[in-house]
Amino acid sequence: TLKDTYPLYLNNKAQQPNTDLEVTDKFTGEVAFRTALATPEIIDRAIVGAVHATEPMARLASYERQAVLQHCVDRFTERFDELAYALCVEAGKPIKDSEGEVTRLIDTFRIAAEESVRMYGEVMPLDISARAKGYQSIWKRYPIGPCSFISPFNFPLNLAAHKVAPAIAVGCPFVMKPASKTPLGAIIMGEVLAETDLPEGAFSILPASRDGADLFTVDERLKLLSFTGSPAVGWDLKARCGKKKVVLELGGNAAVVVDRDADLNDALERIIFGAFYQSGQSCIGVQRIIIHEEVYDRFREMLVEKTKGLVAGDPKDRDTFIGPMISEGEAKRLKGWIDEAVEGGASLLCGGEREGNMLQATLLEHVHKDAKALNEEAFGPLAILQKFSDFDEALAEVNRSTFGLQAGIFTRDLFKMFDAWDRLEVGGVVINDVPSYRVDNMPYGGVKDSGLGREGIKFAMEDMTEIRNLVIRRN
Ligand code: NAD
Repeated sequence: TLKDTYPLYLNNKAQQPNTDLEVTDKFTGEVAFRTALATPEIIDRAIVGAVHATEPMARLASYERQAVLQHCVDRFTERFDELAYALCVEAGKPIKDSEGEVTRLIDTFRIAAEESVRMYGEVMPLDISARAKGYQSIWKRYPIGPCSFISPFNFPLNLAAHKVAPAIAVGCPFVMKPASKTPLGAIIMGEVLAETDLPEGAFSILPASRDGADLFTVDERLKLLSFTGSPAVGWDLKARCGKKKVVLELGGNAAVVVDRDADLNDALERIIFGAFYQSGQSCIGVQRIIIHEEVYDRFREMLVEKTKGLVAGDPKDRDTFIGPMISEGEAKRLKGWIDEAVEGGASLLCGGEREGNMLQATLLEHVHKDAKALNEEAFGPLAILQKFSDFDEALAEVNRSTFGLQAGIFTRDLFKMFDAWDRLEVGGVVINDVPSYRVDNMPYGGVKDSGLGREGIKFAMEDMTEIRNLVIRRN
């Protein structure tokens, strides 16, 4: 069970200045708990704290940073069931997916604990010409300073972890704003971090209203903004964040290509998962299924049958695969896109009905090439079937998107695999699995409208540091 109220974390300490943020159980719609909303004054105090913590954080030894991260691994492991339940309630995430996210959270902190002792630099000979005879360089990475983190609702724990864990691994203080719809994951992370002896001001976890949160973007004392969320918000924040370094992990309408030699049974299981897990509310959820014409009819039949059999309902029930969407507004939006596609000539293969924030798993085909359902980010339980005859045409269709996060290709042909890797405009190509595949140490992020920069612990650690060079002359 959850508590009635939760504090925010200001400069490493729990504080309860108000209970202004009401968070609902996304399945029942009832208030699940209350927490505080940080005012601009509180956020300012957190930034002052982070500035003060910059030097003490940078001076922590590798083993000390590692010990903090290892403490998190141990505590999250002990509190596994409680964390999964919190996600299930606040995000409406089916309990099995919630458990999956907690497992990944533990992985993410474990990887960071390992990487925290591997901040290597390099020795470079500079004597590449007569002018530089006797010179060499040694460079290493220094923490960039106070960081600003903003995270989305759909992975309340693990996407917060992809910012928090590398920051601790390199020794950067940070202020974090979790999504207001799902702040509890990050708050519990704050509770666990408060048990450690990080220097005062090292971290603040501050739910905040959109207006209140502006300091996270504009304040010049913060040296890096790492934002995960929707493209519209992300690009707007980038335009307003001044001299900060920026990392944007945004949305997409990911595609998977099923070639004629694919193992269809294997592809089916993975594609159904990629399209519909957590009701399609994943930035790399499968939205477009591009199928070779020779296997199209057969695979369509398999997809429809499997989709119709997905169990929808209470996310707390272990049999549930499709839970609620985050809000009724979001379900209505996507239902509107589905109706609009059908009016424009699309065939509804299954699903398409909505009740409150529950939207059925939906498959469409013959969708007009300009339809919103195909071109924008669905971020819900919708996938669209498309047919191709030539592999080049399939790659071109994947690239027709304004987004480019990840793409999946089911093929046994090594040449096509390399072709796809070379030509797809994405941050990652996944062979024989869905674009939705992610392990937490791999480089992860997008191109085009999907973002800037990469996460995956060691890549985020690079962003959170600056190289400082030492030139030595020995004559
Ligand atoms: P959102 O953009 O509505 O909100 C993201 C975060 O930004 C939240 O904390 C929100 O409160 C905050 N926010 C919104 N407006 C703000 C403003 N003006 N100033 C400061 N903060 C502001 O996104 P969401 O609905 O929470 O999440 C869904 C989106 O996130 C989808 O587009 C999805 O694709 C994307 N996403 C991307 C990744 C990735 O790693 N690439 C992962 C998960 C989700």
